[in-house]
Amino acid sequence: MSDDSLQEAQEVLRRVFGHAGFRGLQAPVIAEVMAGRPALAVLPTGGGKSVCYQIPALLRPGLGLVVSPLIALMADQVAGLVQAGVGAARLDSLTAPEDRAATWARIEAGTLDLLYVSPEGLLQPWMLERLSQVPLSVIAIDEAHCVSQWGHDFRPEYRLLGRLAEVFPGVPRLAVTATADARTRQDIREGLHLGAAREFVASFDRPELALSAERKAGTGRKRVLELAKARRDRPGVIYAGSRDGTEALAAELCAAGLPAMAYHAGLDRDLRERRLAGFLASDDAVMVATIAFGMGVDKPDVRYVIHADPPASIEAYWQEVGRAGRDGEPAEGITLYGAADMAWALRRLDGQALSDEVRAVQVRKVRQLYALLDGAACRTAAVRRYFGEEGVADCGRCDNCLDPPKAEDLTLQAQKVLSAAHRLNGRFGRGRLVEHLLGKTREPSAFEAGLSTFGVGAELSAGDWRGLIDQLIFDGLLREDPNEGRPLIGLGDAGAVRAVYRGERRVEGRLAPRHPDGSRDAGATPARRRRDGPGTDFEGDPQLFAALRAWRRAEAVRQKAPPYVIFSDRTLAEIATRKPADAAALSRVSGVGESKLARYGPAVLALVAGEVPPGD
Ligand code: ADP
Ligand code: ZN
Repeated sequence: MSDDSLQEAQEVLRRVFGHAGFRGLQAPVIAEVMAGRPALAVLPTGGGKSVCYQIPALLRPGLGLVVSPLIALMADQVAGLVQAGVGAARLDSLTAPEDRAATWARIEAGTLDLLYVSPEGLLQPWMLERLSQVPLSVIAIDEAHCVSQWGHDFRPEYRLLGRLAEVFPGVPRLAVTATADARTRQDIREGLHLGAAREFVASFDRPELALSAERKAGTGRKRVLELAKARRDRPGVIYAGSRDGTEALAAELCAAGLPAMAYHAGLDRDLRERRLAGFLASDDAVMVATIAFGMGVDKPDVRYVIHADPPASIEAYWQEVGRAGRDGEPAEGITLYGAADMAWALRRLDGQALSDEVRAVQVRKVRQLYALLDGAACRTAAVRRYFGEEGVADCGRCDNCLDPPKAEDLTLQAQKVLSAAHRLNGRFGRGRLVEHLLGKTREPSAFEAGLSTFGVGAELSAGDWRGLIDQLIFDGLLREDPNEGRPLIGLGDAGAVRAVYRGERRVEGRLAPRHPDGSRDAGATPARRRRDGPGTDFEGDPQLFAALRAWRRAEAVRQKAPPYVIFSDRTLAEIATRKPADAAALSRVSGVGESKLARYGPAVLALVAGEVPPGD
């Protein structure tokens, strides 16, 4: 970007969005679009993808078009832009006819800066025809990974967006996403006809996000309740694998006094929209959702994401935990997982009509996910390496960094389990296998009692054996056959098993795993306790912060807008810390642009001065 246009872009960033300077790859991406060239930008969630197309849309002549997969996301973005004084609107299936007409009038008068549309809406022939009559500044394709069938959010209609290259030649197209490995990027490039577009791939680090994962005890429901209760007063998302699961959990959370709501595709549209609106408007609600509706529950001030059931892949994991802390404030991603979940995920792939190649990729993805969840290495680093980042250092904030699990050599014990599973010929489940190892099978048959593995496992407790069996399943050394809900344990990958028998492959594991049966007071490591307090590194005036939040809540209700489109928690925290005395000082707070300064300055300054804000 020439110095002049960089300065111009920076000026818009400051004046309209209230940010002091560009972050990460924003400046080079904007430069590419300003130069009229197509580009692909992979920036982490919260990395500030939107300004990458919003600023070119404001600076280049013509209308900026944004293709977004979900109405809720569009509504949110448009509300935020209108707050910032930008001419933005959306056209989708929910837009009322009179709004539609007004929006078209603004488009054709050239007074609209940004138009948000759904892919199916945009691709209607009359829409394309009508839009090709107006000059366009930029076409942004949000959540571009939806074009890839390798991913978890594949949307067939995204495949058709490649046509935009031909319909709008000469208009720079920017594809943005938060998750795309090399293969997915290639798919995006081909699917969207990006040709030789430059690729901008940011670091996947999310410095505000602390990850942790725990093996489930039983269904893990008790633990989820415990985790959510310890995070009262903060907005959170809990993902559950089934609709019934979301309903049951939400009911239990409500019974525990938390403002929780279930959200899934089985609810009627009205109810779903009301719940989504309630969640967006709230600063302490808990959304218990199925992943199918993940993109609909986007909200920047989500403080934690709990997977009551594990995600489908590392991409899905990163995307889902990535919904916490989009405002850059500290947030947590906590995942509960079990061997049965992995068995189920693998089994589900068996039931799908997939080509061998796609199936092999999907199986590997499941295995990689569980290796990460059950592994002892830094979780953030593992994800970043998975996405191809090099030279990655440990994060120092995930559970494995803060409280490294003590690994012990369990090769001998693994050999015992494997040979017992072999001798029992995959006919028994976990419980019976453990009883066999301990020699505690009730009324064993003469055959079983005569096996050399009967009772060879006195050195470990039943809980430790179960933990080791799970680990061997995660490692692929054992295989779990779901067997209609009464899982059976058999040998896994033959080559790997042989290597363990021969002592060529060592097995390391942790004894007394974190939650063998709930006995070890769940998650109460000092590290995790620390994170249970609100706003970890906040050093401002807590009373002022609370007063600002209360003011924001009232303002949000009055405007029927989500609180965070007024100001983010981070902006309020900065105000409560710096206590700006006048408008000039307030305007230097990140997130306070000209429009918001004019609108909210007096109220905020009054609160800082300890007065009742005007208009109250
Ligand atoms: P995402 O990449 O997840 O779409 P957004 O575009 O929603 O992220 O931006 C995430 C948050 O970061 C928003 O609150 C936005 O205002 C803020 N943000 C974006 N760019 C900057 C910047 N240059 N400096 C400070 N904050 C920024
Ligand atoms: Zn770490």
